[in-house]
Amino acid sequence: MKAHIVTLPGDGVGPEVTAAAVAVLKAVAGHGGHEFSFEEQLIGGCAIDATGEPLPAATLDACRRADAVLLGAVGGPKWSDPNAKVRPEQGLLGLRAALGVYANLRPLAVHPALAKLSPLKDEKLKDVDVLFVRELTGGAYFGAKTRTADTATDECKYTEAEIERVARRAFELARARKNHVTSVDKANVLETSRLWRSTVTRIAADYPDVKLEHQLVDSMAMLLLTRPASYDVVVTENLFGDILTDEAAAIAGSLGLLPSASLGDGKVGLYEPIHGSAPDIAGQGVANPVGTILSAALLLRHSLGLAKEAAAVEAAVERVLRDGPHSRDIGGKAGTVQVCDAVLAAFAGRSSAADTYADLVNSCCG
Ligand code: NAD
Repeated sequence: MKAHIVTLPGDGVGPEVTAAAVAVLKAVAGHGGHEFSFEEQLIGGCAIDATGEPLPAATLDACRRADAVLLGAVGGPKWSDPNAKVRPEQGLLGLRAALGVYANLRPLAVHPALAKLSPLKDEKLKDVDVLFVRELTGGAYFGAKTRTADTATDECKYTEAEIERVARRAFELARARKNHVTSVDKANVLETSRLWRSTVTRIAADYPDVKLEHQLVDSMAMLLLTRPASYDVVVTENLFGDILTDEAAAIAGSLGLLPSASLGDGKVGLYEPIHGSAPDIAGQGVANPVGTILSAALLLRHSLGLAKEAAAVEAAVERVLRDGPHSRDIGGKAGTVQVCDAVLAAFAGRSSAADTYADLVNSCCG
């Protein structure tokens, strides 16, 4: 198949981990006879430096034309003034809204070889396999904001239609998993949450094969730590999802391991690791590329329909997490390129890579 992929490496470690994921995508194309074309564009701090805008029009145009977008990370100390008029994360929020990617999928699994890195005890980690579906384009992050000298407000607004579409996505995803959806809200206090709960309950009637359970967000924060293996698909609104998915990331042991996919009704999906730009290690070649490589696997599955290839990349990552080499954040000594080469070798089914990062990174593809 042919696919056009826009890459947005962004800031900090973003370019390092994105290059590793692109190398893996090129290996997938070469292996399966696919033609992937890549186009790199600016977003975040580097875009502010170059154009004054965190999301330049050329970037947005390119993303709208793409089959999928792979993003590294945005932000860093250089652009961290909270009173600045333009900020890197505006690029990310603007892109999510412009692409209409309202469902953010974040899988959480704990690899047995890395269980020691988790703050939870081993027995709690057995069989943890959760897919978070976070509503991404509504709620307090997108509501009207006001500010006077001593008062501030953030409007949290949801429509039934916004809740319905993300709920349907969660039920559909549950059907391909364990048929269990947990919907998280704060319906005892918030009006938006009461609408959330009644809408999700109504939608559940269309999925009688899927079990629905409701949890309040404060209980859920606790339950995720006390019995994480009890959950399958967890669907929630934007702010609650932001917080719960970072809590879940801590369970996995390192931010560097986890991928995400943001999907809408259109064909373009946005794929990115869950970590930030990691300015403390940027430019050192030590960032863990696994979260971004697994994001590329989600891109293959959800935007390109290449489920077999996605599973092969995931299996290759799995093998590297089991056998090493490991990057520093997960207790090893390997650099970004070494981990990437090990994934490429495992993907090719060899002990050393048929194609290496160095072969692939500057090559064209397809
Ligand atoms: P962070 O995720 O960048 O880093 C937190 C810690 O995790 C750091 O110690 C870092 O070294 C480590 N880490 C993160 N990714 C890693 C990787 N791939 N390999 C190894 N270690 C890794 O979070 P932060 O420090 O809170 O934020 C730094 C900057 O990133 C800020 O400007 C923030 O706004 C931005 N940020 C961006 C995104 C995004 O682009 N989606 C998300 C979160 C934070």
